[in-house]
Amino acid sequence: MRVSVNGFRRLGTASVVRGRKGWSLLGAKCSDCETQIYPVLTVCPQCGGRDFVASLLPAIGTLYCHSVVHMGPRGVDTPYTVGYVDLSDSLRVFGRIEMPVGAVQTGQQLELRVEPANRQASQFIYFFTAPSEVSQQVDS
Ligand SMILES: [Zn+2]
Repeated sequence: MRVSVNGFRRLGTASVVRGRKGWSLLGAKCSDCETQIYPVLTVCPQCGGRDFVASLLPAIGTLYCHSVVHMGPRGVDTPYTVGYVDLSDSLRVFGRIEMPVGAVQTGQQLELRVEPANRQASQFIYFFTAPSEVSQQVDS
């Protein structure tokens, strides 16, 4: 996979990049059919292509479905919500939803946020939350 975005940092098999509005997730776009994927794969699920370019994920998406987790990993407070968010017509991303349980509704808009998990910014987490006013103004 060619990576054409400068200054990226690895996040598992994908990456994050820092822009003016903060950190963003870096996926990939198929060079043959332009399908955007995340996490990054070696073969395009749409056309079988193997050539990709780095592609920033959209910051705003629509909640496709969600569920409440009542028994989580040790050290993680429960309950919390997870769900699949459609960031485009062909890009559905799974993640934790940082909103009060019960306040989450299928079909609502959510914002994808990426934050360093430590002071060195050597690891990152991503999650979905209610869109901030700034994001709504910029992206709408
Ligand atoms: Zn493709």
